[in-house]
Amino acid sequence: MKSIVVCLMPGAKFDKPTAGLLAAARGLDGQLTVIVPGTVGDDTTASLAGQADSVIVCEAAGLSEYQPELVLGVLQLVCSDLNPDIVLLAGDTYSQELTPRLAGRLGGVSAGDAQSLKLENDNLRVTRSVYGGKATAVVELRSKPAVVWVRARSFAPAAARDSAGSIEKRIVELAGEAAKSVDATKIVERHEESTGTVRLEDATLIVAGGRGLGGPEPFEELKKLAVVMGAQQAASRAACDAGWVPVQWQVGQTGKKVAPELYVAVAISGASQHLMGIADAKIVTAINTDRDAPIFKHCQFGLVEDYKAVVGPLTERLKALLS
Ligand SMILES: Cc1cc2nc3c(=O)[nH]c(=O)nc-3n(C[C@H](O)[C@H](O)[C@H](O)COP(=O)(O)OP(=O)(O)OC[C@H]3O[C@@H](n4cnc5c(N)ncnc54)[C@H](O)[C@@H]3O)c2cc1C
Repeated sequence: MKSIVVCLMPGAKFDKPTAGLLAAARGLDGQLTVIVPGTVGDDTTASLAGQADSVIVCEAAGLSEYQPELVLGVLQLVCSDLNPDIVLLAGDTYSQELTPRLAGRLGGVSAGDAQSLKLENDNLRVTRSVYGGKATAVVELRSKPAVVWVRARSFAPAAARDSAGSIEKRIVELAGEAAKSVDATKIVERHEESTGTVRLEDATLIVAGGRGLGGPEPFEELKKLAVVMGAQQAASRAACDAGWVPVQWQVGQTGKKVAPELYVAVAISGASQHLMGIADAKIVTAINTDRDAPIFKHCQFGLVEDYKAVVGPLTERLKALLS
């Protein structure tokens, strides 16, 4: 039986991505330990224990927020102690940053963006999209530990196990190799961009705009639609790169991977890199003037029309229907 460790980040919650990550780990049918750096609420700890054989909540000075070197040091120390075959992390930017570094420190191998995981010949096989989603690669990790960040939304959350796992609170004191670079970087200021009340990754409804909108002002029109729908706003990279909307809105290969019930793509062509971010969306709707735009091959509902003729009337109609 494999020994599997799931590494969460400070401030961890038992949300959909975490539940998906744990489901991915449980699918491998091994001895599962969850490491949580920093203090975490009792409800979260209990929910985590419902999914794993054991949960280790690590406490160390300064661990209340994400400090890359410190979190890395703590994960390295606890993982070294557990000596796992497989280490899984989520797909958030912190986890993506730490995955290869943790693999390096543990003397293992790493892969990212796993959309499925499988054990084959005792090795972990990771399936992931490559070339902007145009092809799929299967990567076999033949050294131990295999340290992988997964596209957690690709895995359906699993029900709690019959019996809850153990919970351990561990005071961690970094020493030796793990402590070496803790002071190498320091977060001097934290600036939070307001992206609405719900994180894009957790949003059920998303209205996204692209370069075809032509500037920042039309995003205000889309905002009215989003407000009526109770949706979050998002954008293509082209719109973010143009500075029309915050970069945190970007969906795609180098942006957020979203999994809403409904994704409305307005004036977005549907480049493969954008589509990679919406692969887990249940329903995609597109509004585009170009009937040959690739997005129409990847949506359930499409409207070949100028957004100017659609967004305003649609907003008014929805407002009337929902009021
Ligand atoms: C390594 C790499 C990573 C990348 N990562 C990402 C990523 O994470 N996310 C991402 O989005 N892109 C990413 N890209 C960029 C991607 O290739 C595309 O360039 C980008 O997605 C295009 O954005 P767009 O669809 O808004 O713009 P365009 O491709 O220019 O499309 C605009 C669309 O608007 C339509 N349109 C124009 N006027 C109107 C109108 N009045 N009404 C309705 N429709 C109209 C046009 O017909 C067109 O289809 C990446 C590229 C690379 C190389």
